[in-house]
Amino acid sequence: MDRVQGLLDFLKNSPTAFHAVENLRTMLEGAGYAPLNEGESWRVEPGRGYYVTRNRSSIIAFRLPEGSVDHFQIVASHSDSPCFKLKPTAEHDANGYAVLNVEKYGGMIMSSWFDRPLSIAGRAIVETGDGLETRLVYLDRDLAMIPSMPIHFNRDVNDGVKLNPQVDMLPVYGAEGADYLKMVAETLGIPKESIVGFDLFLVNRDAPRLWGAEGEFIASPRLDDLECAYASAKALIGAKPTGHVDVLCVFDNEEVGSGTKQGADSTFLAEVLRRVAVATGAGGQAFEAALARSMMLSADNAHAVHPNHPEKYDADNRVRMNGGVVVKFNANQKYTSDGVSQAVFEAICRESGVPVQRFANRSDIPGGSTLGNIANAHVSMITVDIGLAQLAMHSANECAGTRDISAMIDAMRAFHEAEIDIVRDGLIRLGRRNSN
Ligand code: ZN
Repeated sequence: MDRVQGLLDFLKNSPTAFHAVENLRTMLEGAGYAPLNEGESWRVEPGRGYYVTRNRSSIIAFRLPEGSVDHFQIVASHSDSPCFKLKPTAEHDANGYAVLNVEKYGGMIMSSWFDRPLSIAGRAIVETGDGLETRLVYLDRDLAMIPSMPIHFNRDVNDGVKLNPQVDMLPVYGAEGADYLKMVAETLGIPKESIVGFDLFLVNRDAPRLWGAEGEFIASPRLDDLECAYASAKALIGAKPTGHVDVLCVFDNEEVGSGTKQGADSTFLAEVLRRVAVATGAGGQAFEAALARSMMLSADNAHAVHPNHPEKYDADNRVRMNGGVVVKFNANQKYTSDGVSQAVFEAICRESGVPVQRFANRSDIPGGSTLGNIANAHVSMITVDIGLAQLAMHSANECAGTRDISAMIDAMRAFHEAEIDIVRDGLIRLGRRNSN
């Protein structure tokens, strides 16, 4: 239950990608991981752990082996979730109310944002005597709501209604004249004039909670993909030291295609891995050889079969909540999993007693995509797409299985502890260090 409570606390305290990365950073520092600055030369010591952030919304952590760097075993996930972002000029008076002018970030189920308490969180750029400083901010109170139209003016509401994000989705947060930026400044304890930039988002205030006959389900905003991000940090911190470099990456901007300076489609991971190799003395072709001997788990949540719409799921490749870790397949390689990466990952899970389920979409439904194949365009290695089965993906309030979080932590930890020996193209040997 410690792991479940830990996840619920992490979700509650991570209203945005910035806060999620801050909380991951705190977890890693608590476990002895030291910060590195991308803008300086790195000096690292064998056997130690380090982390580096980019944009304060993506983070990569790694732990070095005692010996030389042979290869990397990487777990990747994402820190962002679909939501609404405040526009640069967001104050908007409407018929006596103060309304926020927001736009969509990512692809959410818009109707799930109606009629529930919301607030504002993100970062403000503050002019201080010392420079332009990023400060995280969360107005930790019920502040705003997007009211739905009454059925009396909207008789077709239960027969499918088109929502216009510029018209239907603007939240009310007070009487005309209310000043959200002043509230942000007050929360930060600074004058409003010193805020010279911001990235602020609407966040759902629903508290993460357990539900179901035996509390077997979790309801929470942002389960996709903070569940995997949290599991990856717990796994890295808990894993025994190994003979390779264990790596955690949590990327921002997966929900908008990953193509930002801090996303999976950036130089971030490739540069960190190269610098780790150089800082540990790898010369010549050692870095390329290490990459060729490396493996990645791309961890992003999966679709559990919906009890009311089983017809939307492949009859032989559907998964359920509390059924264990999901391995995701797609013939057109929207998911990276193939026979080789499946075999390695499932063998590791089997040896650790972690239950595994296999997912593929119906052939007439395209399904989603994730960050594994995008990251692979920059650092190419054997990769498997995994996740936890959930319902209501991209709703303001998602749903997952309570028992699954432990399965994911155990699977990721076993992956880090496994010695994956990619002997050559076509032969892999599996061992486990420190096993008695
Ligand atoms: Zn996701």
